[in-house]
Amino acid sequence: MIAQVIVDVAARQTDRVFEYHVPSDIEKEIQVGSRVVVPFGPRKVQGFVIGLSETSNFKGKMKDLLVVVDEMPPLTPELVKLSADLAQNIYSYRIKILQAMLPWVMRAGYRKLLLPASPKAKEMPFFQGDPIDLNKIIDSTQIKKIRSLLKNDDAKIEYVVDNKAKKKKENQYALALAPEEYTKIYNTLRQNAVKQKQLLMDIIEHTDAYPKTQKELEAGLGLTAAVLNSAVKKSWLKKKAVEVYRDPLAGFKDDEKPAPIKLNDEQQHALDEIAKAIDEKKAETFLLEGITGSGKTEVYLHAISKALAQGRTALMLVPEISLTPQMVRQVKARFGQEVAVLHSALSEGEKYDEWRRIRRGETKVVVGARSAVFAPLKNIGLIVIDEEHESSYKQESDPRYNARDVAIWRSKYHHCPLVLGSATPSLGSRARAQKNVYHLLRLTKRANNKKLPKVRLIDLKHVQFAGGQFDLSLELVDAIKKRLEKKEQVILMLNRRGFANFMLCRECGFVLKCPNCDVSLNLHKDTNSMQCHYCGHTEPIPTRCPNCQSSQIRFLGTGTQKVQEELEELLPGARILRMDVDTTRRKGSYKKILDAFGNHEADILLGTQMIAKGLDFPNVTLVGVINADTGLWFSDYNASEKTFELLTQVAGRAGRADKEGEVLIQTYNPEHYAIQLAKTQDYERFYGYEMNVRHAGNYPPYFFTVLISIAAKKEQNAAREAFKIKRYLTKELHAETIILGPTPSAISRVKNQYYYQILVKYKKEPNLNKLLHHVQDSAQEAKKYGLSIFIDNEPERIM
Ligand code: ADP
Ligand code: ZN
Ligand code: ZN
Repeated sequence: MIAQVIVDVAARQTDRVFEYHVPSDIEKEIQVGSRVVVPFGPRKVQGFVIGLSETSNFKGKMKDLLVVVDEMPPLTPELVKLSADLAQNIYSYRIKILQAMLPWVMRAGYRKLLLPASPKAKEMPFFQGDPIDLNKIIDSTQIKKIRSLLKNDDAKIEYVVDNKAKKKKENQYALALAPEEYTKIYNTLRQNAVKQKQLLMDIIEHTDAYPKTQKELEAGLGLTAAVLNSAVKKSWLKKKAVEVYRDPLAGFKDDEKPAPIKLNDEQQHALDEIAKAIDEKKAETFLLEGITGSGKTEVYLHAISKALAQGRTALMLVPEISLTPQMVRQVKARFGQEVAVLHSALSEGEKYDEWRRIRRGETKVVVGARSAVFAPLKNIGLIVIDEEHESSYKQESDPRYNARDVAIWRSKYHHCPLVLGSATPSLGSRARAQKNVYHLLRLTKRANNKKLPKVRLIDLKHVQFAGGQFDLSLELVDAIKKRLEKKEQVILMLNRRGFANFMLCRECGFVLKCPNCDVSLNLHKDTNSMQCHYCGHTEPIPTRCPNCQSSQIRFLGTGTQKVQEELEELLPGARILRMDVDTTRRKGSYKKILDAFGNHEADILLGTQMIAKGLDFPNVTLVGVINADTGLWFSDYNASEKTFELLTQVAGRAGRADKEGEVLIQTYNPEHYAIQLAKTQDYERFYGYEMNVRHAGNYPPYFFTVLISIAAKKEQNAAREAFKIKRYLTKELHAETIILGPTPSAISRVKNQYYYQILVKYKKEPNLNKLLHHVQDSAQEAKKYGLSIFIDNEPERIM
C-alpha cells in the first residue's frame, strides 16, 4: 500500500504530494485523513494522508511511512476533499487549510512522542519516561520496534507539542477486592484509623458508586491524597489515570431552561420553509432578513431541533463577538450536553477537547466562530450563519477563506439547507436573494411587539458641548443623566480604542508615526505609552515634539479611554465599564464585564463595535453613538455599508424589553445617506440606494474582485514585481476586465514591509483562476528575492 502525504513543514510552502510505502503492520490503522509521521530529508515530520493506493508512478526507492499518530483520523474524507477544492479557490496551500481545520495543538511542530511507562516500553534503549524527540530516534527500524513492542500492550503512544496538547487526566479509584472483604477489613481496623474507616464505610455503603474520581473522594469525603495512596498500597483500591474533557461550559447551569416560545406567523413561515428543505435533503441557501429583535435566534433554535429530530447534526456560526455568555447559555439551555462550543476565548486545551468530542460524534450541535465552519461533524442537517454580513467571517490572513463560501460547499456535500441571518444582510447576499439564487425569508416585526427605538441625530457642527472637550454634546449627557436617575442603563459606542489616536505638533505639523509602519501612534493612558495598532510597537509619551522640540504638542482623535475619563468628570458617581480590545485581553474578562453589566453593577457600558452586536440587556433604554463618522471616510468601497450596518446594529440594543428605547447618534455628517437611513433603520431603502452607488462605481456585487498584494523590504522591489504582474494580466485578460493599480496600499508600510496592490474587477474571466495560480507559483521564485505575494479572492476590504 502507498500513501499520498502532504507534509506539515512550515518553512516549505508546497502542495507537492509525497508518496510513502505503508508497512504492512500499519495498513489496518491508516486511512485517508490520518495524521502520520514520515521521514522528510534528515528529519521526521508530521503529515496528512490525502490518498491511498496500490500502485504508484514513482520511480526510485520509496521511503517507509513511520507512524500513524491518532487512533481516529483527525480529518474526515469530506474535509480532505474540501481542502483540495478550497486551496484551488482561494489561492492558498493545502497544508495551510488542513492546519486551519484542526485545533492548534494538533498542528505542525509535533516532534516528540510520549512513550507510556509500560514494562515493554522500558525495554527500549532510549526510554526515559519523558517525551522523546522524534528526530533523536535514529531510524525507522527503531520506530518499527516501538510499534511491535507496544502492539499487545494496552498503553498507547501519545504525541505532544507541549503541555497544552496533553490530554487531561484524572485519577480514578476502583475496588480491588470483593465487596464483602471490605466489611472484614473494617471490623479489624484500629479504632483511631478514622479516615480509613470513613473510606471503607463509603465503599461498603456505596459499592456501586465506584470507581470514583480523586476529586469526588477528596472534595466529597474530605479524604487526603495520603489516605488514598495508602489504600492503594494496601491493595484495597486500584488507581488508574483516565482521560477527562475540559468543559468550557462547566460554569453554566442547565436548570435555567426557558419555556419553549410559540413562534409568530412570520417566524413559523420561515421555519416551515427551512424544515421542508431539511426533510427533502435540499442544499438550499436561505437569507433570513429580520430586523433586530425579530426573533431570528428563535427560528434557528427550532430549525436545529428539527435537524436533530431527523437524527442529523447542526452547525451554527456566530461572530466571535456575539458568542456572548448570553447566547451560549441560550443554546446550551435548549440542547444541553449535545452542544460543543468553539471560540477563541477557550484555552487551547479546551478547544482540543471540544474538537475531539465533535470528532467522536459525542455532540450533535456545534456553535462557534469562523473556524468552526470546519468542525468535523458528520451527517449535517442544518448550517446557520448568524449576522451573515459580519466581515469577520472572512479570514484576513492566509488561508483567506470566507466561512460563508465554505458553508455553502458543506451544505452541498451534506444535502442540507444553509440559513444566513441578518438585520442588515451584506449587499452581495441580498442581491443574490433578489435574483432567487438564495431563498429570501423576512421577519418584519419585533417578536415581542416592542417598537423599534426612536433615533435622533445630533449634528456636532452646531451643538453645545458638555465640559471642555469636543466629544460629548450637552444633549447626550443630559439624556444619560435622565436614564441614570430612573435607574436604567446606557450603552455608549465609540469605534476607536486608546486615549487619542495621534500626536500633532502645532509648531511644525509633525505627526508621530510608528518606526515600522506608515501609521500614527496612538496614546494609551492605561499603559502610559504610545502604541502602534498594527505591529504592537510602543514607546514613551513625548512631552516635546521629537522634530522641533516645541512643547506645543496636542493629542487628537478621541478614543474610548478618553471618553471614559470625560464621563467620569461629567457624571460623578456613575459606574462605567469599558469594553474594548485593551480591557478584554485576559481570558474570561469579556464574560466578566457583561455579567457585571447584566447584574446592574454598572450604569454605563462604553465600548468599541464589540458592544454593538447581539447583546440583549432589558434594562438598557439609551444607546449613544459618540461619533458615527469613524468609519465613514475609509477609502473602502463598502465604508457606507459598514457604517449603516454598525449604526443599525447598535441601535437595536436599546429598548429590547418593556421600556421604550432611545438612540442618539452624534455625527458631523448628518446628511450622509448611510446615517440618514440608519436613523430610520430602513434597510430596504439603503439597499436600493447603495446598489446604485455600486453600479456606478463598477463595484461588487456587480463585479467580482481579486486583490493581489505584493510586499517587500525594499519599496522598488515590490513596485517592480507589481508592474510585472500587471503586464502579464493585461496581456491575458479580457479588455472589459478592469485592472486597477499597481498602487501603494492605503497603509503602504507595515512591519517594515512595503505593500503594493493590484485590484482586478471582472464579470466573466474563466481563465483567471489559472492565471493567478501561475502568479502564485512564480511567487515561490520571488520569495528568494524577499518578495511575498498574497492573492485575496473577494476581499472584504479594498483600500
Ligand atoms: P434577533 O436575533 O432577531 O435580534 P431574538 O431572537 O434575540 O431576535 O429575539 C428578541 C427577543 O424576542 C428575545 O427576547 C426573544 O426571547 C423574544 N422572542 C422571540 N420570538 C418570540 C415570540 N414568538 N414570541 C415572543 N417573544 C419572542
Ligand atoms: Zn514640531
Ligand atoms: Zn507599527
